[in-house]
Amino acid sequence: MIAVGVALVAQGPPPGGQGGRGGGRGGGRAGWVTIKDGEECPPGMTEARHLACAPPVSPAPGILDYRPRSTVVAQEHGVPKAKFPVVDVHTHGSANFVNNPDRIREMDALNLRVLVDLSGGGADSVKQKMDAINASPYKDRLRVFANVQWNGAGGPGWKEKAEADLRQAVRNGAIGLKIFKELGLTNRKADGSRLAVDDPDIDPIWDLAGELNIPVIIHTAEPQEFFSPLDYHNERWLELNIFPDRYRPSDRYPSFEQLMKERDHMFAKHPKTRFIGAHFAWYGNDLQRAAKLLDALPNVTLEVAAVLYEFGRQPYASAQFFTRYQDRVMFGKDTYEASEYPYYWRVFETHDEYFDYYRPYHAFWKLYGMGLSDAVLKKLYYQNALRVEPGLPQTGWPR
Ligand SMILES: [Zn+2]
Repeated sequence: MIAVGVALVAQGPPPGGQGGRGGGRGGGRAGWVTIKDGEECPPGMTEARHLACAPPVSPAPGILDYRPRSTVVAQEHGVPKAKFPVVDVHTHGSANFVNNPDRIREMDALNLRVLVDLSGGGADSVKQKMDAINASPYKDRLRVFANVQWNGAGGPGWKEKAEADLRQAVRNGAIGLKIFKELGLTNRKADGSRLAVDDPDIDPIWDLAGELNIPVIIHTAEPQEFFSPLDYHNERWLELNIFPDRYRPSDRYPSFEQLMKERDHMFAKHPKTRFIGAHFAWYGNDLQRAAKLLDALPNVTLEVAAVLYEFGRQPYASAQFFTRYQDRVMFGKDTYEASEYPYYWRVFETHDEYFDYYRPYHAFWKLYGMGLSDAVLKKLYYQNALRVEPGLPQTGWPR
């Protein structure tokens, strides 16, 4: 191995050049440029040898047009149907499936037992949805969470109204409270200022959820890179240039760290309330940080909606995490799209290697299977949800 390495280096240019452009260095190869330790290659070049940058001889394709064909001949184990029945704790609009037997058949084929629609709305809207669900043959397949109107918090009567509406929504059948990302980002207090997640004016809502014994699923902030400089080092560059509205520049929004701090502080202030961090609390790319959160706060669980690409690119650490914290993870998907669920089953259940994700613009990398045990899969798919969300249908599940 060493001999090969030396031979390769020996063919390249001598390291430690002056840094600038110039055809003279680079082992005599025209167009090569040497750089210093810690420097990057100039645009249009790559580090072809240690500290020596080379341009390709043909014009380089852009990131959209470079679609290399993998020559890996890997074993493939597609998983069209989850191994155990599943509660999807994070969907939107699924309460409408009550009138749609095709959707229910589709759920059966995927082994989706219950969908939780987080867009239940206020008490009246929850009542409408739950009345329809209770009157249907699919009443054990769908549940809803309520929502709170945050704008105007701190103003006269806001607290009383919000509390009364949440109490009524739960009486009307809501089994939890969903917090959308606008809280902390764009919702405004009565005095016009930004409403932070840990603002004392909204503490009573978190305490009320604890008193009502309903979980709170909260989506705070966005992926870390949505708040980072939008340069060629941003791993969501393509997504942020296809959907520019997703970008959260620092001159208009609080930072990612600020939002995480506010949310985690709020979790800590309300130990008697059960919180579910939607999208793995955006810590899926930093599992050590996720572990710290769970170690510090026993009232918090995490769900996996829309962050499968994080686990699929670090399958060893993820499998360890899901095994160690097997009582703290739940399945969620966010967008109901039948064709996409099997990607989740495949990452969780198999040891498959080097396969594609369904959204190349936000995970241009390949996925790998975590090969979780049956015991962990059951907790991830339904057992933890049944404990954290007692309003779910509790009977008929495999032991
Ligand atoms: Zn969502």
